[in-house]
Amino acid sequence: RSKVNGRQQITFFDPSMTRNLVRRREIESELRLALQRDELSIFFQPLIDLETGRIRSFEALVRWFHPEKGELRPDEFIPVAEETGAIITLGNWITAQAAKAAAQWPEDVTIAVNLSPLQIKAPGAAMAILSALREARLDPSRLELEITETVLLDHSQNTETFINELAEAGVRFALDDFGTGYSSLGYLNKYPFSKIKVDRSFISGINQGKKSDAIIRAVSGMGQTLGMEIVAEGLETIEQVRAVSEAGCTLGQGYYFSRPVPDYLAAMLLAKEREKHTGKVRKRA
Ligand code: C2E
Ligand code: MG
Ligand code: MG
Ligand code: MG
Repeated sequence: RSKVNGRQQITFFDPSMTRNLVRRREIESELRLALQRDELSIFFQPLIDLETGRIRSFEALVRWFHPEKGELRPDEFIPVAEETGAIITLGNWITAQAAKAAAQWPEDVTIAVNLSPLQIKAPGAAMAILSALREARLDPSRLELEITETVLLDHSQNTETFINELAEAGVRFALDDFGTGYSSLGYLNKYPFSKIKVDRSFISGINQGKKSDAIIRAVSGMGQTLGMEIVAEGLETIEQVRAVSEAGCTLGQGYYFSRPVPDYLAAMLLAKEREKHTGKVRKRA
C-alpha cells in the first residue's frame, strides 16, 4: 500500500485527517438542517464598564447544540458555513435574534454582533441588517458590528459601501481581535470604529513581565486620543481586570465577569444590576 499515489497515502495512513474530513462533511450537511431543527441559539456575554462596574453591552455568540455531537463552538462551524455560503442565512438569523433580544433590554444597553467577511460582501448585506433592526424595533445606534481586519484587507468597494451605509444609519463598528493581524493604523483612520477590542492573547500575557502591558497601554492611549473605547477581551482574573483598567482600557469582557449566557440569564443579569442600583439610591435617600 505504500506504493499508492500521494493522495491515497494520506487517506490510508493518516486516520486523524480522515476523521477531521468526515466531521467537516457532516457539519457541512447538518448545518443546513440545524436552523430548521432549532439546534442553534445565541448566547450573550456582557461588556462591563470598568469604572462603574455596570453592564454596557452584550456580545452575541452563536452556539450549536447538536443532538449527537454535543455543543459545537463557532470556531468549528463558522468556517464551514463560510465555505458553503450558509453563513449568509445563518448570519441574518443571528442578527435578527440578537436584535430581538436587545429590544427587551434597557435603552442604554447595546448589542454587539460578529460579522464574517463573506456576509459583508454579499449583495444586500446592509439592507438585511437594517431590516432586521426595523423588524425588532431596535434603534440602529444600539447595534455594534464586530469585524476583524481580515474583512478590510482586500480594500473591497463593497466593504466600504457596507460600512459607510450602516454607519450613516447610526450603526456602530468595533475592530475585533486587535493585535492578532496586521493591526494597521490605516484602518483606524479610514473607518468609523467606536471600539477596539484587544485580543485575549495580550490579556493572558499581562502581569507576566511581558511586553503586553506596554502594548495595551499604548493602544489605550491611542484610543483615547482618537475617541475610541478600548475593550479588554478574555479577562479571567481580578489581577487582569486591575491591570487593564490601570493600562487605560474602559471596558472589559471575560469569564471573570460572566461566561456567555442564554437570553433569559442576560435579562436576569440586567434586572439584578438595576435592583442593586435602585437599592443604593434608596439607601442614600
Ligand atoms: P470573538 O468575537 O473574539 O469572541 C470572543 C470569544 O472569546 C468567544 O468565543 C468567547 O466565548 C470567548 N471568551 C470570552 N471570555 C473569555 C475568557 O475569559 N476566557 C476565554 N478563554 N475565552 C473567553 P466563542 O463564542 O467560542 O467564539 C469564537 C469566535 O467565533 C468569536 O471570536 C467570533 O470570531 C466567532 N463567532 C462567534 N459567534 C459568531 C457569530 O454569531 N457570527 C460570526 N460570524 N462569528 C462568530
Ligand atoms: Mg467578537
Ligand atoms: Mg475577539
Ligand atoms: Mg476571535
